[in-house]
Amino acid sequence: MQTALVTGGSRGIGAAVSRRLATDGFHVFVNYHTHTQDAESLAKEIGGEAICADVANRSACEAMFAAAGNVDVLVNNAGIAQQKLFTDITEEDWRRMFAVDADGTFRCCQLALPYMIHVKHGSIINISSMWGQVGGSCEVHYSAAKAAVIGLTKALAKELGPSHIRVNCIAPGVIDTDMNAMHGPEVLQELAQEAPLERLGTPEDVAAAVSFLAGAQASFITGQVLGVNGGIII
Ligand code: NAP
Repeated sequence: MQTALVTGGSRGIGAAVSRRLATDGFHVFVNYHTHTQDAESLAKEIGGEAICADVANRSACEAMFAAAGNVDVLVNNAGIAQQKLFTDITEEDWRRMFAVDADGTFRCCQLALPYMIHVKHGSIINISSMWGQVGGSCEVHYSAAKAAVIGLTKALAKELGPSHIRVNCIAPGVIDTDMNAMHGPEVLQELAQEAPLERLGTPEDVAAAVSFLAGAQASFITGQVLGVNGGIII
């Protein structure tokens, strides 16, 4: 049985991705940071395993990969967001954003790769954001970190192609999760209407794209950024 590790699998998009990959036949490691109970009950539901690690911490990630063993599919989904005027972003805000959203992706890729390179097989899917593509007002640090994930994806895909490892990126639009809980229902409704498909995305919409990119049907696709956004960015 192939294995998949989903960072930030305890809630939202990561939980839907974990469920979907389990349905696809993977043994899934559900990484989490703070929501232990959510991760453990999800892991139980899907026959996987919950693993705690702050992706911003190198040694915690090393311990996670040592515990998981060989990983065939890595989904770098763990992320934080913050809305602030650029002039109010502190050094600490900027560093934490990059530590989780960009550096977490860097280090989990690095830790998954020795096995993938050895077997010349593997798929990495990084979850960026439409704001990493076009920039979001009052989310400069988030947008910059998510743009870094896109750059990492493209460069790493070139480097790993000869090892038959594919690296792709998904750039979700507005997805109905806790991450958008700070917006009230009216703002969410407005955001939904901005998309040509006139609705918010669901975590399952993103999970379906991950499932596609992880599997054999995407065997000639690497280095791409797939928008799952209802057409809000075209
Ligand atoms: P969410 O509901 O807030 O869930 C975030 C997940 O990331 C949780 O499982 C959380 O784990 C985990 N996480 C946060 N910091 C972590 C850390 N330091 N180490 C390990 N895990 C950590 O967010 P979401 O909406 O599902 O977003 C998932 C990804 O999609 C993020 O990368 C986000 O930027 C991206 N995205 C989301 C949207 C959207 O509209 N929702 C749009 C574009 C991109 P714990 O709960 O256990 O702490």
